[in-house]
Amino acid sequence: MRLGRIASPDGVAFVAIEGDGDSAVAREIAEHPFGTPTFTGRQWSLSDVRLLAPILASKVVCIGKNYEAHAAEMGGAAPDDPVIFIKPNTSIIGPRVPIMRPPNSSRVDYEGELAIVIGRPCKDVAAADAASVILGYTVANDVTARDQQQVDGQWTRAKGYDTFCPLGPWIETELDPSDLQIRTELDGVVKQQSRTGLLVHDVGAIVEWISAIMTLLPGDVILTGTPEGIGPMTAGQEVSVTVEGIGTLVNPVVDRS
Ligand code: MG
Repeated sequence: MRLGRIASPDGVAFVAIEGDGDSAVAREIAEHPFGTPTFTGRQWSLSDVRLLAPILASKVVCIGKNYEAHAAEMGGAAPDDPVIFIKPNTSIIGPRVPIMRPPNSSRVDYEGELAIVIGRPCKDVAAADAASVILGYTVANDVTARDQQQVDGQWTRAKGYDTFCPLGPWIETELDPSDLQIRTELDGVVKQQSRTGLLVHDVGAIVEWISAIMTLLPGDVILTGTPEGIGPMTAGQEVSVTVEGIGTLVNPVVDRS
């Protein structure tokens, strides 16, 4: 099932998205999408509504250097244990919402990533049990002020600006994440192309590692790391991240005045 969140003339709602192209519809879910959703009976043509970020997260936990080729382009090897950091939930935006480059950064990069969406409260989850706490998967862009990441020594500022966590277009609940193509394009030019099979720490290992540190809540999002090919975005460009089996997340880039 594809789970999303929409703004319609009638308000904001969680929906299940069915069908493709012009015939796609958004069926309204009562209350929230966790567990077995119930439907209100209202529905809209997907073309008549606006897709929002598909989930409301209490936190976004991210893995750094989780593809060897990306660790190498950053000047090192992938660490033996996952290195994690947090993006504030206020950095989340949905599809088509502009990424805003702050005026005090000279280089703002895209990082296309597979994102895990947690489905129920959990702690100390074994890797083998990870699927039981996962609602589904979406596409993320771990936008990074690369110059500030390099000078700060830790990454809260560089990764935490408003608009620096595009998510969407929806959550796919029926997906094997073990070997999906992931691709980032800037103005239609392919910049990153890899496969999730090359993750150093896979989805199960990531959930085990993070849930041993902190309680995960329904809707929490985990960014699994970016492959090689990172690079800057400038105002007026459009960035798209595609994960096979989920879809494409598109955002324009603007300068914040
Ligand atoms: Mg990243």
